Amino acid sequence: MTKEELENLKKKLQDKRNFIIKDKIKTIAKEMTLQSEDMADEGDMASVLTDQEISLSLRTKEFEQLKLIDSSLRRIEEGTYGQCLDCDETIPFARLNSNPAALFCIIHAEEREREAMRFNRKAS
Ligand SMILES: [Zn+2]
Repeated sequence: MTKEELENLKKKLQDKRNFIIKDKIKTIAKEMTLQSEDMADEGDMASVLTDQEISLSLRTKEFEQLKLIDSSLRRIEEGTYGQCLDCDETIPFARLNSNPAALFCIIHAEEREREAMRFNRKAS
């Protein structure tokens, strides 16, 4: 992976992160506007809400996504980004490009999916 490719992936992750947070702020702002007519606009809301309040109110799925994105961004800083958490193999750029928050190589991602499915079948 070139430095440029890494920068592109980093930007994608940050964009996605901003999108999730902004989208959530919009929802919260809307809910609050319903409660009080003269509530501040979106921009003010962003400064009123702390990160913690935002993450607390995130739905689980969004929160999981955000966690994945944050850990990917951290791994970029640490220089371990793009390595499978299970086997340390380099995750192909094409895979990262379509899913920048991927933590596993295809083999181990599929293994985990199969395990999750098995678990879900057992649980239901
Ligand atoms: Zn692997």
